[in-house]
Amino acid sequence: MAEVDDKGSEAASVGGNANRVEGHRFKDLVDLDALEKIMERFSLATGFTTGLVSFPDQELLFGTGWRDICVKFHRACPDSEVVCKQSNVALTAQLRQQRTLNVRPCEHGLVDGATPVIIRGVHVASLATGQCLFEEPDPERFRAQARQFGYDVEAYLAALSEVPVVDEARFKNGLSFLSDLAVMIGELGLKNMKLMQSAGELEEEVGRRRKVEQELLDHQDHLEELVESRTAELKRSNQDLEQFARFASHDLQEPVRMMASFSELLARRYAGKLDERADHFIEHITGGANRIKGMLDGLLEYARLTAADQPAASVDLASVLNQARDNLGLLIQETGARLTSDELPEVPGQESQLLLLMQNLLGNAIKFRGEAETEVHVSARRQDGEWVLSVRDNGIGIEPRYQQRIFNLFARVDRDGYPGEGVGLALCQRIVELHGGSIRVESEPGAGAEFLFTLPAG
Ligand code: ADP
Repeated sequence: MAEVDDKGSEAASVGGNANRVEGHRFKDLVDLDALEKIMERFSLATGFTTGLVSFPDQELLFGTGWRDICVKFHRACPDSEVVCKQSNVALTAQLRQQRTLNVRPCEHGLVDGATPVIIRGVHVASLATGQCLFEEPDPERFRAQARQFGYDVEAYLAALSEVPVVDEARFKNGLSFLSDLAVMIGELGLKNMKLMQSAGELEEEVGRRRKVEQELLDHQDHLEELVESRTAELKRSNQDLEQFARFASHDLQEPVRMMASFSELLARRYAGKLDERADHFIEHITGGANRIKGMLDGLLEYARLTAADQPAASVDLASVLNQARDNLGLLIQETGARLTSDELPEVPGQESQLLLLMQNLLGNAIKFRGEAETEVHVSARRQDGEWVLSVRDNGIGIEPRYQQRIFNLFARVDRDGYPGEGVGLALCQRIVELHGGSIRVESEPGAGAEFLFTLPAG
C-alpha cells in the first residue's frame, strides 16, 4: 500500500485541482521516463505488465509489457476501450479509502490489480498490473466477446492463448512489490514537491530582496539629490555670511569702538554723580559694546582668513604653543591652569593662523573649565601620513547634540556665566581646512573635551 504523509487534505483531488497536490501536477513531481525504464525491466524479468495511471482522471502515463489482447483488441476498439476505462475506475476508485491493493477481474474477463500512489494524503495515481488469468479461460465467453466488439475471432483467441494463467499468490506477491515501489514513488514525489516549493519560496525571497534593493537605490538617489541641493544651499549661505562678515566688520567697527569708548568715558567722568540706575545702564552699554567689538574682531579675523593666500612656511608648533601660552598669560595666571604638552612637530603652514588656532583652543579649554583644577594637555601623533594634534581639557565638556554645531559661525551652547561670541571654533575649523586638515571634538559632558585636528606632515 502506498501511503505517504497522510496529514494533507483530500481537497486537491477534487474539482478544478484534480490530480494536483498543493498546486503541483503528479506528472511534474516524478521522473516518468526513468520510472518507465525501471518498469520495463520489471516486466521483462517477471512477465508482469505494469501501468501507471493518473488519478482521478485515469490518464495512462505509461504501460510496460502489455499483452496483444489488450493493445490490439480491447483498447484498439472504441466500444471496448470504454469498458477498459470503466474497469480501471472500478479498480482504482476505492484504493485510498481501502488503503490497500485491489485485485479484481476486468469487464473483459482478465485479472487486474492496482495499488495507489499517495502524496500528502492525496491519491494522485495508481500503479497497476494484470492482463493475466487465474484459471484457464472459457473460450466461449471470449468468442462471444469477439463477436460483440467485431474482433477477428481467431486472431482474438490466439491473443487470448498468450495471456498467462498465473498463481494467485504469486500475482499478489508481484503486486506487493509494486505497492512498495508506489510508496517510494510517493516519497520521491513529496521530496520533489518540497524542493520545488522551497525553490519557489527562494525565488519569491529573491524577488522581494530585489524590490527592497531597488527601493533603497531610489532612496539613495533621492538622498544624494537632497544632499547636493542642501550643500549648494549651505555654500550659498556661507558665501552670504562671509560677505556679511566682511562688510559688517568693516562698517560696524568704527561706531562700535566709539560706543565702547564713549560709554567707558561716561562711566569714568560721572562715576558717583549719577543715580544707581543710570550707572547700571552705562555698565550695560559698555558690556554690550565690548561684546560686539569682540565679535567684530573675530569676524574680521575670519574674513581676513578667507582672503589670505600666502605661501606655506615650515612652522614650529612648539614655538606656536609657547606664543599662545604667552598671549593667554593673564587668563592662565588668573585660573591657575596647568598646561602640558608632548613634543610637537614642525608642519608646513601659516604661522599666524596656526597661532590663532592654538590660542582659541587653549583659551576655550581654560574658559570652559569645571570645578577641578584646570589641566590642559596638547599632544601630537603621526597617523596615515599626517599629524593628529589634540588639545584635551578636564572642563565641563559638551553635550553630544552640540558637538557638530559648535563649529558653525555664531554657534554657542547656552550656558550661564560663560561669555563668548561663537566665532572661535568657526575660525579654527576654517584654519584647519585651509591647511588641508579636519577638526572634530570628542567629549563627555562633565568629563572634559578633546579637540582633535589634522595637519599635513611636511
Ligand atoms: P565662544 O567660545 O566665543 O563661545 P567658540 O566658537 O570658541 O565660541 O565656541 C563655541 C561654543 O563651544 C562655546 O560657546 C562653548 O559652549 C563650546 N566650547 C568650545 N570649546 C569648549 C571646551 N573646551 N569645553 C567646553 N565647551 C566648549
